[in-house]
Amino acid sequence: MNTLLPTSTAGSLPKPIWLAEPETLWSPWKLEQNSLLEGKYDALCLSLHEQQLAGIDIVSDGEQTRQHFVTTFIEHLSGVDFEERKTVRIRDRYDASVPSVVSAVSRQRPVFIEDAKFLRSQTNKPIKWALPGPMTMIDTLYDDYYKSREKLVWEFAKILNQEAKELEAVGVDIIQFDEPAFNVFFDDVNEWGIACLERAIEGLKCETAVHICYGYGIKANTDWKKTLGNEWRQYEEVFPKLQKSNIDIISLECHNSHVPLELLELIRGKKVMVGAIDVATNKIETPDEVANTIRKALKFVDADKLYPCTNCGMAPLSRTVAKEKLQALSAGASIVRKELALL
Ligand SMILES: [Zn+2]
Repeated sequence: MNTLLPTSTAGSLPKPIWLAEPETLWSPWKLEQNSLLEGKYDALCLSLHEQQLAGIDIVSDGEQTRQHFVTTFIEHLSGVDFEERKTVRIRDRYDASVPSVVSAVSRQRPVFIEDAKFLRSQTNKPIKWALPGPMTMIDTLYDDYYKSREKLVWEFAKILNQEAKELEAVGVDIIQFDEPAFNVFFDDVNEWGIACLERAIEGLKCETAVHICYGYGIKANTDWKKTLGNEWRQYEEVFPKLQKSNIDIISLECHNSHVPLELLELIRGKKVMVGAIDVATNKIETPDEVANTIRKALKFVDADKLYPCTNCGMAPLSRTVAKEKLQALSAGASIVRKELALL
């Protein structure tokens, strides 16, 4: 990236009202078959347009073609039965009805490659593509076949690597793995979670990122956050090992969060996507608030490695709120860019 402080989003953006019910997760599609296919691509163009208008430097598909960041990927794999549902506790936080692994998992065909190719054809800006992380994938399933979290996670890491290599081949610049589970299962992360992530990026030449957050602004997450106390030190558990990993970029929640920013010192040397936009409130940040978060993070992240970003995906927000938040992100980054130019 030649731009200093290049802006981006964690991934998802709201879908247009004609495509899916707004401000809802797992929102059902409003179109069918060919109309749905066409509608998803039209929505992708709109989402890209809104990011570009807001001045976002690293753009994405806004996850317009997927219903959910984990389940849509899993739906394309064989070995998982979506009829055979079981209730499990997700990230030790809330119960959800999830599909079951009933036989060996494999990727019979590409999942997002056509979508990524389409996004590539629509813009010359650097593009980032999000995939679910292997640990977050196993946390969103009931395993009735491997009977071992560790065995299943390695299978998913291999599958993600196949998909990632094809995303790279169609011109994706940054491949990001969403691992909110890294903020919960610290022992597993250190024992095999980071190793699995490295398996998922094996052989890639494009940049790679891991997004670790405190989740969307849904009730289960905001209730959980209330139990975490004044200082959120979860990142401290996994940063030392992540710092030594091959992952290039670490995407984190910072603004309005109780994460002590000095923890970023533990990943000094990595590129950091600093969450400067709170996705759990409709209140629009002012450019000065965004600039402030960036300035604070600059104490622990070198300027050429700081990427201003959102705390998490914005899928559950309204389109107007998301659009204004993106503009604030750009405006805030631009304030700090000017300050740095004067130094
Ligand atoms: Zn997130």
